[in-house]
Amino acid sequence: MAEKEKLAEKLFRETKTGWEGIDLKKKEDIFSFCKDYMEFLNESKTEREIIKSTKKIIEDNGFKNIKEYSKLKQGDKVYYNNRDKSMYLAIIGKDSIEKGINIIGSHADSPRLDLKPNPLYEEAGFAYLKTHYYGGIKKYQWTTIPLAMHGVVVKPSGEKIEITIGEDEKDPIFTITDLLPHLASEQMERKLKEGVKGEELNLLVGSIPYDKEKCAEAVKLNIMNILYEKYGITEIDFVSSELEIVPAFRARTMGLDNSMVAAYGQDDKVCVYTSLRAMLEIKEPKTTAVCIISDKEEIGSMGNTGMESHVFDTFISEILNKLGINKPNLLDHIFCNSKMLSADVDAAFDPIYASAYEKNNSGYLGRGIGLNKYTGARGKSGASDANAEFVAMIRNIFEKENIEYEFAELGRIDIGGGGTIAYILANKGVDVIDAGVPVLSMHAPYEVTSKFDIYEAYRAYKAFYKS
Ligand code: MN
Ligand code: MN
Repeated sequence: MAEKEKLAEKLFRETKTGWEGIDLKKKEDIFSFCKDYMEFLNESKTEREIIKSTKKIIEDNGFKNIKEYSKLKQGDKVYYNNRDKSMYLAIIGKDSIEKGINIIGSHADSPRLDLKPNPLYEEAGFAYLKTHYYGGIKKYQWTTIPLAMHGVVVKPSGEKIEITIGEDEKDPIFTITDLLPHLASEQMERKLKEGVKGEELNLLVGSIPYDKEKCAEAVKLNIMNILYEKYGITEIDFVSSELEIVPAFRARTMGLDNSMVAAYGQDDKVCVYTSLRAMLEIKEPKTTAVCIISDKEEIGSMGNTGMESHVFDTFISEILNKLGINKPNLLDHIFCNSKMLSADVDAAFDPIYASAYEKNNSGYLGRGIGLNKYTGARGKSGASDANAEFVAMIRNIFEKENIEYEFAELGRIDIGGGGTIAYILANKGVDVIDAGVPVLSMHAPYEVTSKFDIYEAYRAYKAFYKS
C-alpha cells in the first residue's frame, strides 16, 4: 500500500456498506433475526396491537405488572401498561438507581387513516367510510392499495369489541379509488400535495342494498346491518371507537439478494422490536434498564399516552417508592444522571431523490445504526442537540462492541426537518441522542429498511443497556 493510502486509512472516516466482507455466520444471524422481526410486524400493525404483542412476549420472559409488586429489588422485571397504547418496561440494575438509568425509547404509532366519528355514508350506490389521516402522509400514496381495518369499538357499558378485517386471506379488504388517467387531466394539474385531498380519502366498503324493502340509504343500511350482526354495533358506536385503516400488505423480504425488509409501519416498529429484543436479552444489568414504547409521536407526542404526558415519571416514581428510597427531588436527580437512546428511524439517502439530501451527512442503508446528534429544522430550530461528551460516550460503547454506526442529518438544511421524542426526555435532564434504523420511503404505506441495520440497531441497543 502506498504511504498516502496508509495515511488515508488511518485518518479518514470509513464509509462502507456493512455487507462488504460479512462472514456467513453473521449473515445467517441477521436473516434469522429479521425473520422474527417480520413475523412481529405481521401480528402488530397498530399501537394497541404492539402493546398486546409486547405484553405477551415480556410476560413469557418474566416481566410483571408493577402493580403486582409491593417491594422491588435488583433483578426484578416490571412494566407499566398505559391504557393499552403505550408501555414502559424496567429491569432493576445492580447499581443504585440514584446513579441514573439507561433508557431506550421508541414509538408504536405509525402514519395511517383514522375513521372520523361519523364515518359512514352512501353516495351513488356505494357505502363509504370517511377518514382523517394521522401523521404526515403523502395522501396520493394511500389510494388504490389494499387496506385493512384494525381497532376497537367501546360500548357505553365498557364492553370492548376488537375488530381486524383484511389481514386473513379469507377476509375482504378495502381500498380508496382514484380517477382513471383518461379523465384526470384536471386532477393532473393539481400540485402533488393536493393530488388527492384529505376529504377524498374515503374508504369504499360496500355496494349491495338492503333488499327486504325499498328505503333510503339502502347500501349504508346493509353495511350497518352486517356490522350489527357481526359485532353488535350501531352507527352511534363509531363515536366511541378507534378504527385505524392501515395497508393490508404483509411484511416481506425484499430484493433478489433478500437484503431488505419491506413493510408498513417500520417507523417506528423497527426500533420497538430491536429495543425490546435487546431488553429481553440483558441479564442482570449494572444500570437499571428502561424501555419506553410511546404513542402519538407522529402527531406531536401529546395526550396521556404520548411522551409529553407525565405517566412515565409516575412509573419511575413508583419504582422509587417500591425500592423504598423515594424522597423529594430524587426523580429529578435520577433524570439528570441518566442517558437515553431515542430509538427512532432516520431518513435514508435515496439516490433517485438525491437533491433532497446532503450526501456527506445522510444516513445510508446498510451502514449500521444511524445517529442524529440533532434533528430540528432550518438552523436546528426545535432540536435536542446531544452534548459532545455524551456522543463520545455512546461512540465508546458502540466501538468497544464493533457496532457499525453512521452519523447523519435529516436531509438538506433548508428543505425540511423533523423531530422525535428526544427533546422531551432531554428537557427532564437526561442525556439523549437519536439512534435508529435508516428507512427509505418513510411514512409511505410500504417502507424499506436494510436487514444489516436492523441487526446492528439491536446489537447497539443491547450494548447500551449493558453499559
Ligand atoms: Mn418515528
Ligand atoms: Mn414518523
